[in-house]
Amino acid sequence: MLTSNSGHVALELERAHTARNYAPLPVVVAEAGGAWVTDTAGCRYFDCLAGYSALNFGHRHPALVRAATEQLARVTLTSRAFHHDQLGAFCHELAELTGTEAVLPMNTGAEAVESALKIARKWGYEVKGVPENQATIVVADGNFHGRTTSIISFSGDKDATTGFGPYTPGFRSVPFGDAAALASAVDATTVAVLIEPIQGEAGVIVPPDGYLTDVRAVCDADNVLFLADEIQSGLARTGRTFACDHEGVRPDLMLLGKALGGGIVPVSAVVGSWAVMGVLQPGQHGSTFGGNPLAAAVARAVIALLRDGAPQRRAHDLGEHMARRLRPLVGRGVTAVRTRGLWAGVDIDPAVATGRQVCASLLRRGVLAKETHGATIRLAPPLVADPNDLNWAIEQLAAVLCEGDVR
Ligand SMILES: *Cc1c(COP(=O)(O)O)cnc(C)c1O
Repeated sequence: MLTSNSGHVALELERAHTARNYAPLPVVVAEAGGAWVTDTAGCRYFDCLAGYSALNFGHRHPALVRAATEQLARVTLTSRAFHHDQLGAFCHELAELTGTEAVLPMNTGAEAVESALKIARKWGYEVKGVPENQATIVVADGNFHGRTTSIISFSGDKDATTGFGPYTPGFRSVPFGDAAALASAVDATTVAVLIEPIQGEAGVIVPPDGYLTDVRAVCDADNVLFLADEIQSGLARTGRTFACDHEGVRPDLMLLGKALGGGIVPVSAVVGSWAVMGVLQPGQHGSTFGGNPLAAAVARAVIALLRDGAPQRRAHDLGEHMARRLRPLVGRGVTAVRTRGLWAGVDIDPAVATGRQVCASLLRRGVLAKETHGATIRLAPPLVADPNDLNWAIEQLAAVLCEGDVR
């Protein structure tokens, strides 16, 4: 760890010139492939964060690198002022994967969320008939939808909000997993409900069974759009293509990002029916890079990987395996484990260590993981991980917790 000179130089330059909005663990990655990364000193680490699930298919997946390389040799950017030969195919294939009609291509997750909020408001005024500037959107406590000014306006995280006001009005927050609370927050001004089907940053919080079905019913009863933020939960992570699939629920707008770019380029999208998406007319929304040829080509290769269901099955099978091995840790330095597919939230007993301390110890043992909200460690390795490597990583966690190896 950081024994190489190039690692020290990289750190010094960051310290001098990189805005301090992150507090990274002390490892300087130089190379990666599959589920493993190598630092500047040549030490290897098993990646249990996978770029917050942007790397569901692993680092440098051959099919994705091939798609990117081929597109790099053709055309990478046109802007949306002109057509290009990848966009229609990308939107068609994503519409097919999601069982919807229309796709709005953007770049980052936060942009997809912002876009969906704008579409929902416009739909509210033009289709539902909400009086101008009165639209409300109901969200869930503990949400994470990104870092833009409007999105943090409905965040409950003090670090995310303090010092960044004034906030965008028009949002109401209710407890996550409580459909009755959600129903009582909806009124005639409500145009949308925005939730993560599983809250990722909050610590892989899985709502009670039936919650998504109930949210759908509330939205149907009150003519409100159901916006599902599947940016972290979608694209095979939970063992199904989308987390909403676990309840067979179809949102009105689904927001995708992270893994859609294959860990190579930022690609996000809002998908839905023409009845909703159709409110956007030329000039009313846009993005210079949204839907660019390189992004579209990589995303098409991602969609192709998902088409036969293999990554979804692998997430499910590896996830069962992971859950079986994590459960015995409860009571041994761990207070709770939540899993859905290859996605786990592991709550560390505060009497034993903080999440950060455990992550620092894991790093020394060759496992990359990141705490969230102090006491929770999220385990979300690439879906291409080898089961033996996953076992080994969990053994490292057990050793850190049980052998008092936390420093
Ligand atoms: C990461 C994330 C976002 C924001 O994505 P960015 O690409 O970082 O802007 C939004 N929603 C959820 C659920 C996320 O996990």
